[in-house]
Order: sequence, then structure tokens, then C-alpha cells
Amino acid sequence: MKKVLLTLFTGILFINFACFSGKSGGNDGNGNNNKPETLNSTKLNDSINQSKKDTLMLAQNKFSDLNKDAFKLHYDAIVIDTHNDILMPVFLQGAELDKDNPGTQSDLVKWKEGGLDCQMFSIYVPERYKTNHFNYVMKLIDKLESFQSENTGTFALCSNYRELESALKTGKFIALMGAEGGNMIEGSMENLETLYSRGVRYLGLTWNTSNAIGTSARDETERGKQGGLTEFGIDVVKRMNELGMLVDVSHLGETAFWDVVKTSNAPIIASHSNCYSLCPNYRNLTDDQIKAIAKSGGYIGINFFYKFLDPNGNPGAIKNVQAKYRNAADKLMSEYGDDLILFNEKRYEFITENPTENGTSVDILIDHIDHIVKLAGIDYVGLGSDFDGSIVTINEIYDATCYPIITKKLVERGYCEQDIRKILGGNFMRVFKQVCP
Ligand SMILES: [Zn+2]
Repeated sequence: MKKVLLTLFTGILFINFACFSGKSGGNDGNGNNNKPETLNSTKLNDSINQSKKDTLMLAQNKFSDLNKDAFKLHYDAIVIDTHNDILMPVFLQGAELDKDNPGTQSDLVKWKEGGLDCQMFSIYVPERYKTNHFNYVMKLIDKLESFQSENTGTFALCSNYRELESALKTGKFIALMGAEGGNMIEGSMENLETLYSRGVRYLGLTWNTSNAIGTSARDETERGKQGGLTEFGIDVVKRMNELGMLVDVSHLGETAFWDVVKTSNAPIIASHSNCYSLCPNYRNLTDDQIKAIAKSGGYIGINFFYKFLDPNGNPGAIKNVQAKYRNAADKLMSEYGDDLILFNEKRYEFITENPTENGTSVDILIDHIDHIVKLAGIDYVGLGSDFDGSIVTINEIYDATCYPIITKKLVERGYCEQDIRKILGGNFMRVFKQVCP
């Protein structure tokens, strides 16, 4: 799907850049307007400029009754998502990053409503384009930088932990850049170094097709392709270690994965992958892979695509349930939208009062988190939604306004405040601090 979508629109990429307005969403000019750390005032405009400076200490417990205060905890915590494909709809289809687009799963309005503080954007180029991958990527980064320079009061494009930590104190929405698919460096170490110098902080070594770096999971599983990392791929991993760039193994074949484990001297991440033992799909990680990532001190961002969560998932059934939940939520938003915590309580009440056996429940997503925690410990799992990567998600998490439901479910599963803060963003912060200080 992703490839088809991109093919349709890539032809107009170079003449259609102007479709992206880059206008402010009306909340600019208050970048340094620090608010009290708790979300007593839960109004949307306040939460937009919420400073997270007092939540950087992950050990603290602010809430004595999590059952009552799950949503308060969510908006108080630092919430980070390590994979999102919205840049393609924005740069190629006319979606607007700072508007509530009816056709996208995410944008700045939805992230703010969903309590997200930081999004690591996927910089992606369709693999079927034989040439000019690198130029294409440079232009995508140019566009993101223009957006940043036109929205300096509300949007911070960061490239290391120090910048991230500082931007959290301002309440700006934070963007980080990761790259998906090593084909974009076109077999050139110099291009890798340029990506780094432009601020890209992870590289997924492959997408679904193998490249000069190594063999992809799909090629290995569905096409029986043998391989691993090439000699160039081994040099790429070593250079990424030297530069301070996260090696992302989502989409990578298993033999190449083990070559990365042998080669890398830094924490390894999977920006958007789930557990193979719960959902046997070539894109997911086996228990041994999960343990190896944890042993490296790394990180796994849980992907919200139903196919990587639920082996029995049915997209039609999920879409029906989502339509019902979304309609109810739209009405509740018009009534309670100036109080995000109350809105979330009402939305969750509707969901629990309207149970369904159809589709795929968010409980399965929590099962994947649970599995990693039981297998490897609490320190290695986070969120890597893959929103707007042409995916059908799961019943309750129909778009980026729904992150708070994950926090509520974690509370119901018995996770303590400190552990929930780690899953929502703390675990990625730790790895990012270590690799990209
Ligand atoms: Zn992907």
C-alpha cells in the first residue's frame, strides 16, 4: 500500500512542494510560556504550551490513585513516538501538518489532543525509484526545516538529547528525524554522513527490499533470499556508531539482525516492530531478538498496525468499530473539548459501555508491551505507532488523539506510574541520551 501511494504521488513531488502551507496553527508566540507542571487546567490551549520540565525525573510518583488519575498522568508524562509517516501525505498529497486533517491519522492538532510531546518522523523514499533517492530525501528535510523556521514558537526540530530536553521545557511540539530504508544513501558513506549532518538520528538499514547494506525481513522470509549485512553494511553500522546515530532494525532480515548485534557497540533500536511469538509476521521480533536488543541497552517501539499485533485481525471489522468510536468521540469533543481529561474520561466511558467482540482490541497492543516487559524488563519498550504509513490500526486507537487510552490500559494492567512513564517516553529518552547526547 505504501509503495502504491508513494508511486502515485512521487511524480508530482518536485512540482507540488508548494501544497504545504506551513502556516501556524494559531498557537504561536507563546513558546516560553511555562505552565505549572500538573494539568490542573486541562484546556487544550494550555496543554499545547505545557512545559514538561518537572517531569524529566522519571523516578517521581505524583499520583496516588492512578485509577482515578490515569489521564492526568498521561498528559503529565513525556510521550514520545518513534515512527510516523505523516510527512508523505503532507509533502505529496496536500495534508497540512498544523491542521486537523480529516484524512490523516496524525497531525499537530491530533498529537496535541493525544498528549504527544515528541514525534520521530520517518524520512522515507519509495524504493522503486531507481535514482535520486538521496536528492529526494534532502528535499524532504528542506521542507521540514522550512516548516520549523516558519513555526519557531510552537515547533522544535531537534537533533540531540540536549536540544530535546531544552525544548521540553518550552512546551513546543518536538520533532526528531529518523530515516527508513538504507537504499536512500545509495551505497555511499558520504551520503550517510550528510544525513547525519542534516539531523537524521536513526537509519532503518532496510525497508522491505534488500539493498547495498543488507537483506530485508521480507526478502529473507517471503523470497528465500540469503544474506545478512554486506561488507558495506558492516562499515555503515560501525560509522553510525562513531557518528552517534541509532541503528534501526525494523524491517531488517534476521541474519542481518544478528550481524548488527555482532558489529554494533551501541544500543540497537527497532523503531516500529512487535513480538513474533504473539503475532508471527516477518516484521516482528523473535524472543531472542528482543532479548538481544535489551542486552544492547536498546529500545523497541510498539507498532499499532493490526497485522503486526493480531494474527486473526480483520481490517473491515476494525474500521467498523473505529467509525463507531470516532463518531462518539467527535460528539464528546464538541461538548468537552476544552477539558482534555474530562473528554478522555467520557470517551473511555463510551468505549467500556459499548464493548465489542469484533475487530482487534487495544488489549492486544498491551499484551505485546507486557511480553517484552516479562521477557526483557521494563526498560526497553515504547511507542512506534507507524501512523499514516497506510496502516489500519486497532479498534480504540483509531488516530493520534487516542494515546491516552494506552496509558489507561497500562494502569488497568497494574503498571505503576514510574513504569508507565518509561513506556510512554522515558525508555527512548534514555537511549537517545546515550547515543545522541
Ligand atoms: Zn516501516
